[in-house]
Amino acid sequence: MPRERLYLFDTTLRDGAQSNGVDFTLADKLVIARMLDELGIDYVEAGYPGANPTDTNFFAEKRPLRACLTAFGMTRRPGRSVSNDPGLVALLDAQADAICFVAKSWDYHVRVALETTEDEMLASIRDSVRAAKAKGREVLLDCEHFFDGYKANPAYALSSAKAAYDEGARWVVLCDTNGGTLPHEVEKIVGEVCKVIPGDHVGIHAHNDTEQAVANSFAAVRAGARQIQGTLNGLGERCGNANLVSIIPTLKLKPEFSQHFDIGVPDEKLQTLAHVSHTLDEMLNRAPDRHAPYVGESAFATKAGIHASAIMKEPATYEHVAPETVGNHRKLLVSDQSGRSNVLAELERIGLSVDKDDPRVVRLLDEVKDREAIGYAYETADASFELLARRMLGKVPHYFEVEKFDVNVEQRVNAKGDRVTVSLAVVKVKVGDDVLISASEGIGPVNALDLALRKDLGKYQSFITGLELTDYRVRILNAGTEAVTRVLIESADESGEHWTTIGVSPNIIDASFQALMDSIIYKLVKSGAPA
Ligand SMILES: [Zn+2]
Repeated sequence: MPRERLYLFDTTLRDGAQSNGVDFTLADKLVIARMLDELGIDYVEAGYPGANPTDTNFFAEKRPLRACLTAFGMTRRPGRSVSNDPGLVALLDAQADAICFVAKSWDYHVRVALETTEDEMLASIRDSVRAAKAKGREVLLDCEHFFDGYKANPAYALSSAKAAYDEGARWVVLCDTNGGTLPHEVEKIVGEVCKVIPGDHVGIHAHNDTEQAVANSFAAVRAGARQIQGTLNGLGERCGNANLVSIIPTLKLKPEFSQHFDIGVPDEKLQTLAHVSHTLDEMLNRAPDRHAPYVGESAFATKAGIHASAIMKEPATYEHVAPETVGNHRKLLVSDQSGRSNVLAELERIGLSVDKDDPRVVRLLDEVKDREAIGYAYETADASFELLARRMLGKVPHYFEVEKFDVNVEQRVNAKGDRVTVSLAVVKVKVGDDVLISASEGIGPVNALDLALRKDLGKYQSFITGLELTDYRVRILNAGTEAVTRVLIESADESGEHWTTIGVSPNIIDASFQALMDSIIYKLVKSGAPA
């Protein structure tokens, strides 16, 4: 039997951005959009043009993505014409492939929140869909409060969805906006809708207020819906949205779904899922959820005892899917066997081949474990891991040495009478027989240190001119009894390659210095700088 296509719609950058403590910059949004695109998501909803400068700027120019880039906004305001609604005009002008309108499907909200009539709401939906189609956009309608609205007044709720479908909207998306609907209710109501609107035009947008957003999404698919909306890591206001990081592997790996549906995420991209999930956490400066299904550090960890030897013999006995399929790995908490194979796999991935019985593999593993116990996180800091491994194998030349550095922070009153804080760093570097001293001011102590460090590296200077620090993140950790600071620095170079380095210390300047040094040395190694 041919499989049906099921579409994935990501709203991390729009609905997910409503989460407490989440504030994406334009650069963040571009990175995440690209990451979703590479993963194979069909629709990337990037924001609400006109609502804030970040989203307006995002849609001000064409963003080349394979995915259908979607802008979100309201249908025309009641009592206005399309051309007389500046918000709608801005939305229609946004550089997007699709427009996702939101409209009220609960008669109570139409009366109380919008203070208008059902007929005017339906006319607003029709006019807006028509205007967007005339602009050549694919159109979706988010039917807000659909399930609560359907329970209160099924005829009106259905007519709001039908108005968009009849006008040519590609999708009508049934939203459980308050997140309180249960799976059996979702399945029943979606089934009713699919009698009126073909299921391959129906989507589900579930919130997680009873921790069933993922289950509700699958219930809708069982009832006929063919688009699932969700976010990475279930990001979203209150308790979050349906978590695509759980939905994707279930669709790909569970026969109930995989035998009947195809999604845009290929098998090899599924293997990057854990990385995608953790990358978003790092951008948000959050610790990944260890117990997250599929991608959490503990998702495939089994405690000592009777299970361990059985897992070694036959992993499938204790695992519902193979951890590698989602880019995770098996963890046996009793032996380092699995850690060792992880390290070997990592070494192979970065092109350092060693014999599996080489004693240095065990030494490297011990070193990684010791360092992770005090706060290092090598899964994220790929470049620092590579340097650690190369050093262990004697493959990092001794390029230069920082003999000393000094960083100063001074607050004073400037000539205009304003209080200003300035930082000054002085670095003494030994390159071969040359001793080089550089000083630099910066907007903060770490910035000053970075500028001074990279100001003059003698014969290596030409290798690092394209080096750029693109992100700097600090987290205070409680490792053991004392608090330590973990710094992650993301760098990029002229070739477009990105890498992340790490430093850990009770002192933030020390931690930053380690991460900066790793970044520079990684760049030298990568550029093939001579010893
Ligand atoms: Zn929502």
